[in-house]
Amino acid sequence: MTNNGLTNTSVLISGASIAGPALAYWLRRYGCDVTVVEKAPALRPGGQAVDFKGATHRTVLERMGILEDVRRLRTGGRDQTVVDADGRRLAVIPGEFTGGEIEIRRGDLARLLYERTADGCEYVFGDSITSLTETDGGVEVTFERGAPRTFDLVVGADGVHSNVRRLAFGPESEFVHFLGHYYALADVGLDGDPAMYNEPGRMVSLGGPKAPAFLVFASERLDYDRFDVDGQKKLLIDAYQGGGWRTSEVLARIPGARDFYLDSISRVEVEHYSRGRVVLLGDAAYANTLGGFGTGLAIVGAYVLAGELLAARGDHRTAFARYEEGFRDYAAIARKGNAGPFLAPPSALRMRMRNWMFNSTLMLRMMLKLTDRFATGIELRDYSSV
Ligand SMILES: Cc1cc2nc3c(=O)[nH]c(=O)nc-3n(C[C@H](O)[C@H](O)[C@H](O)COP(=O)(O)OP(=O)(O)OC[C@H]3O[C@@H](n4cnc5c(N)ncnc54)[C@H](O)[C@@H]3O)c2cc1C
Repeated sequence: MTNNGLTNTSVLISGASIAGPALAYWLRRYGCDVTVVEKAPALRPGGQAVDFKGATHRTVLERMGILEDVRRLRTGGRDQTVVDADGRRLAVIPGEFTGGEIEIRRGDLARLLYERTADGCEYVFGDSITSLTETDGGVEVTFERGAPRTFDLVVGADGVHSNVRRLAFGPESEFVHFLGHYYALADVGLDGDPAMYNEPGRMVSLGGPKAPAFLVFASERLDYDRFDVDGQKKLLIDAYQGGGWRTSEVLARIPGARDFYLDSISRVEVEHYSRGRVVLLGDAAYANTLGGFGTGLAIVGAYVLAGELLAARGDHRTAFARYEEGFRDYAAIARKGNAGPFLAPPSALRMRMRNWMFNSTLMLRMMLKLTDRFATGIELRDYSSV
């Protein structure tokens, strides 16, 4: 199906990870002129494993014609053992629990979406928006490197620390709520079966589904430079001093670690998804770090946002209002929960309770059922007939 209902509508999307290219796919299919601007110099490869769960995610991927490709690229989700300081098994986390129904590396998914959209859309890497000025007829945009341009609409699909949200909505501190934990991902070159170790308020996971080394720790809010990787490595090493199991081995390799990334576990809450001709999508609008729903929300959100623009024949006021109305309840899952205390329980008792849950088939089944209910809690409109 090709529906050119949005011909002559120009849209600038900031962010070429998951939400941005997914939206680009639909907008291009509906006839828009799409430009995607990405701060990184090229498509960012690798990254953590993300997942899809349940019939709604499957349906959207199917409608995009990529379900089989996503399945082909799946990681195969492995079980992970929870161990004590001597490496003895305490519990097993089934791959199904951490990896959903189809687990895929974020970078592989981003590449797939990019490849499906690169022909019809303009991708600009290594640039970033510096100002947005709305006029009656569009949004005047200036860039760090490129010449100023005007677009009908601008979409912020640029993640938790969204640049578009900052420029159009206000400072990050108003929308990003720190949840008392930090996480780090790194490739430290240590092999072994997937294992996870806890001490109160600290977790170290090696060979697991998310990354070669994945660490979560409880902390007060830390003051650090988001772009100073060496400073962040030092901060992580300080936070894990005296840790048991293989912690010292991991810490020794952190200074030379590849693909190092550290950030807070945070939740994004915006009162409205749009301001005039500017709208937010994905983590920029409704992130809950490590909550397990971000990728599904990005994919389904892109489908709904593009579909509502098509249904409203490009009338952004109507479309953005319907996107918010139709999506807010579904995205409410991002306002609940905090993965921090679950991954790094604050006490020995809470660690035992969490491990008991992993060992209880009944509890796991209940949690998977609940997850499925959240992931399928939206009635997908079929925009092919509008
Ligand atoms: C460790 C970890 C594990 C996760 N596990 C899961 C999981 O199991 N299941 C799940 O569903 N989700 C998971 N997620 C969440 C998932 O990665 C995101 O929700 C998903 O990628 C959707 O993100 P997005 O496209 O909205 O933003 P992001 O993936 O954050 O992408 C934002 C993009 O914007 C770019 N950008 C940033 N600033 C600018 C700028 N100024 N100008 C232009 N571009 C810019 C960035 O470089 C990036 O490419 C996990 C996340 C992490 C960190």
